[in-house]
Amino acid sequence: MLRLPVAQEYERQGMDMNVKNCRGCGRIFNYVAGPVLCQVCREGLEAKFQEVKEYIRQNPGVGINEVSVACDVSPSQVQQWLREERLEVTEDSPIFLTCESCGANIRCGKYCDKCKNTMASELRGAMRSYNTHPEKKEPKKDPRDNPRMRYL
Ligand SMILES: [Zn+2]
Ligand SMILES: [Zn+2]
Repeated sequence: MLRLPVAQEYERQGMDMNVKNCRGCGRIFNYVAGPVLCQVCREGLEAKFQEVKEYIRQNPGVGINEVSVACDVSPSQVQQWLREERLEVTEDSPIFLTCESCGANIRCGKYCDKCKNTMASELRGAMRSYNTHPEKKEPKKDPRDNPRMRYL
């Protein structure tokens, strides 16, 4: 049976549709998933993340603006990493976020433990469909349930 060129053509067009401008450098690149950043900027951001993480580890009492200045990274980027729970800060750190539901001070993520618990019971049904998307984070395992993490 002859292989039709249509499938190949379709595939190529599908890829073309994912070409985007990098938000970091403006270069056109083939977008796959996650943040709209080209490979170069992604690696740069990852290196910056490691720098920030190390800086916070070595300076536990440091504020978000100091981190921003010392590591040459925007405060909103630092906050984003905290929201993504990639960064952890100590209990006495002046770096904190606010719970998006009640406004309480929290260390990372989006909601305080109280609101999380309330929402967990309310959203149990919705979470089931949420879990079927493989690129989303599994919400059921909370790293803060591990008491070791509280005393970094
Ligand atoms: Zn870029
Ligand atoms: Zn809350």
